[in-house]
Amino acid sequence: MSADSTEQDCIFCAIARGDIPSDGVYADDHVIAFRDINPQAPSHVLVAPRRHVASIDELKDDQEFLGRVMAVAITVAQAEELAESGYRLATNHGRDGAQSVPHLHVHVLGGRALNGRLG
Ligand code: 5GP
Ligand code: ZN
Repeated sequence: MSADSTEQDCIFCAIARGDIPSDGVYADDHVIAFRDINPQAPSHVLVAPRRHVASIDELKDDQEFLGRVMAVAITVAQAEELAESGYRLATNHGRDGAQSVPHLHVHVLGGRALNGRLG
């Protein structure tokens, strides 16, 4: 099946294909993780599905895949040695959620004391 126009234009699909370089920290058949280009903390990694999923809002009925993505986020946080000091996992959906890249990604943030405010 050929990719639709959303996937063709999607920057994280291009990263998943290897068409755009990224600083990868994890990859398996389903999920990739790479450092954010504009890090907000000493460790700032994005965990994303290889296939195009617009946001977490599409995964309500796919708990197995949701679990895979979150398990990779935890794996990355532990590999970044954030478990003891603490870390934040965050994912944005849609306009009011301030999602800027419409391909699901979970932010893994840590390495400094994060602001307690989320919005
Ligand atoms: P959002 O606002 O959608 O939750 O987060 C998008 C994130 O993707 C931002 O933190 C932004 O810095 C990051 N980002 C945008 N374009 C690129 C890119 O081409 N490469 C990488 N590594 N990160 C990107
Ligand atoms: Zn995509």
